[in-house]
Amino acid sequence: MAEKDTELIHGALITKDPAKLRLKPNLQGYDNLRKTFKWSDADKMVEWFPGGKINAAHNVIDRHAKGKNANKVALIYDDGEGNAQKVTFKQLYEQTNKFANVMKKLGIKRQDRVFFFLQRSPELYVGFLGAIKCGAIASPMFPAFGPDAIRDRLLDSSAVCLVTDSDLKKRFYEVKAQLPELKHTIIVGKDVAPDELSWEKEMAAASDKFETVPMDPEEFMYLLYTSGSTGKPKGVVHAHKGIVEAHLTANWVLDVHDEDVYWCGADLGWVTGVVYGVLGPWSNGVTQVGLAGRFDPDRWYQTIQNYKVSIWYTAPTAVRMLMAKGDDIPKKYNLSSLRALYCVGEPLNPEGVRWAMEVFDNKPFHDTWWQTETGSILITNFPEMPIKPGSMGKPLPGIEAAIVDETGKVLGQGEEGSLALKPGWPSMMRQIWKNPAKYNEYFRNGWYYTGDTAQIDKDGYFWYVGRADDVIKTSGERVGPFEVESALIEHEAVAEAGVIGKPDQLRGNIIKAFIVLTPGFTESDALKADIQKHVKSKLAGHAYPREIEVVKTLPKTRSGKIMRRLLRARELGLPIGDISTLED
Ligand code: ATP
Ligand code: MG
Repeated sequence: MAEKDTELIHGALITKDPAKLRLKPNLQGYDNLRKTFKWSDADKMVEWFPGGKINAAHNVIDRHAKGKNANKVALIYDDGEGNAQKVTFKQLYEQTNKFANVMKKLGIKRQDRVFFFLQRSPELYVGFLGAIKCGAIASPMFPAFGPDAIRDRLLDSSAVCLVTDSDLKKRFYEVKAQLPELKHTIIVGKDVAPDELSWEKEMAAASDKFETVPMDPEEFMYLLYTSGSTGKPKGVVHAHKGIVEAHLTANWVLDVHDEDVYWCGADLGWVTGVVYGVLGPWSNGVTQVGLAGRFDPDRWYQTIQNYKVSIWYTAPTAVRMLMAKGDDIPKKYNLSSLRALYCVGEPLNPEGVRWAMEVFDNKPFHDTWWQTETGSILITNFPEMPIKPGSMGKPLPGIEAAIVDETGKVLGQGEEGSLALKPGWPSMMRQIWKNPAKYNEYFRNGWYYTGDTAQIDKDGYFWYVGRADDVIKTSGERVGPFEVESALIEHEAVAEAGVIGKPDQLRGNIIKAFIVLTPGFTESDALKADIQKHVKSKLAGHAYPREIEVVKTLPKTRSGKIMRRLLRARELGLPIGDISTLED
C-alpha cells in the first residue's frame, strides 16, 4: 500500500490543541524522550523491596493503602444491573491480605499456579492480587469458557488451585476428573460441596495482616493464554518486573491522573483486563470502574454518565457494535465527563475514530497496539500527538520497532513487512509455558517477530496491514484484510466485515468478504454491487471483494477479535482447529 493510498483512505489528520486538553498529558516531548529515556528511569516509578526484590501486588495495592490513597476508592464495581459497590485501596489491601493468608494455609507454594474462573466481581480482583502477593502465579479465565477450554488450561499449567463460583463450577465439573494435580477448589457462593472450600468461610477466618512476599523481579506473576485468533492459545508467562511497564504505560499512554475515573471494559481473561483493568491503573493509584455483564449500549453509556468516567479503554469490536446501534442512543446520556478514549485488540477502523469525534464531542479514539506476549502497550497514539485515523501510532520511548523481512533486514518507509521489536523491554513474556520451542520461534535474527505485518510512513507512524497469515495475495498484489474491511464498514449498510483470500485459478486468490448488515438493510444483488462499487472507489482496483456473503454474525474470540481462520476454514472446507476461545 503506497503512502498516497493511506492518506486517501484514512483521511485527515486529527490534531490536538494543548489549550483544549482538560489535563496536561503525563508524557511531554515524545521526540526528546525517545532519545533520552532509559528503562532505569521507569524502575524509579515503582516501589522495590530491599535487595532489588519486588512484588507487583505491593505496587498495585499495598503502597497506596499505606499512603495518601488509603481511603481513596480503588474500585467502583457495578454488577451489571446498576448496583454499585465502592472498595477503597485500604479495603482491597485487607481483602488481598486475607486471600494471601488463605493461600498460605492451603500450603500454596511459591510459583504454584492458581486459577480464577469467575464473573467479574470484587472476589476476582481480590483473589488475583492476593495470589500474586503470596508468590503464586495467578491466572484468570474467561467466565464464558466451556469445559474443554477450562481443562486445557488447568492441565497445561498443572494448576493446584481453582477459584470459581456456585454457578460456573458446573462447567468445571465436566472435566474435574481429568485434573489429578488440582488440589483445591474454592467456591464463591453458597453451593459448596464437601470436598470444596467456601470463599466466604475461609476469608472470614483469615487474618487481614500479611507481609507481601518480596520476589525476584524475574519470578513469575501471571500466566495468561493468548486469544486464539490464529491457532491454539499459547500460555504466556509474565514476570513481576512487568509491573514497571504496566505502570509506565498506564501513566504515559492511558494518561491516568489522580482525579480520573478510569474504565477498562476488558474481561480479566484477556491480557487487556489484567494489565489495564488491574495492574497499570491501580499502580498509578487511580479509581477504576469494573462493570459486570454483557454488551449493552445503554448500560455502557449509563456507566460513563453515572460514574463520571473520564478515561475509557475499549476494543474495536465494541466500537463497531456501538456504531451499528446508531447515534441516537448516546444522545440520551451526559457523556461530558469523558476526556480520553483508547482502543485495543484489532486494527481500529478509521470510521470508528471519526465516529467517536462526532459522538463524544471531538474526542477521538487512541489506538494502542500490543500483544499478550508484549505485556504492555508498545506502539500507540499518545495524548499529545496528532492522530492519523487507521494508524496505530508510534513506539513507546524505550522500544525499538521496525519493519523487517525474513532475514532480519530493516525495510524502508512505505515497505510492507514483519513488525518486529528489539527484545529486552521489562514486560516482555518470559516463557511460553512448557513450550520452549514455541517461545524460541518468536526470536530470529536478533528481533522479536510479532506475527503481524505493517509499514511505517514518512512521519514514523505505524500502519497495521494484517496478521502474517491473513494477508491476501491477489493478482500478484498483497492486500491486507484490514484495509478492505475498513472500506467495507464505511458503507452504511455494513456493520461488520471479515475478509479472506479464496483460491482462484486466474488470480491466485480473490477477495471474499463476509459482512453483517446494519439493522434495517436487506440483502440483494444490487446492494452487494453498490458495496463493491464503494470499496473500489476507496481502494486500488484489485482490492475489492469479488464475492460478498451476508452472514448474521462473524466468528470471534472471547476477546472480540474476528477469527478469519474460521471464515477461511469454513469457506475452503479445511479443519477448523482449536475453537476453545470462540464466542458462542
Ligand atoms: P493468538 O496469538 O492466539 O492467535 P491473538 O494474537 O489475537 O491470538 P492477543 O495477544 O490477544 O492474541 O492479541 C494480539 C494481536 O492482536 C496482535 O498481534 C495484533 O494482531 C492484534 N492487535 C492488537 N491490538 C491491535 C491494534 N491496535 N491494531 C491492530 N492489531 C492489533
Ligand atoms: Mg497472537
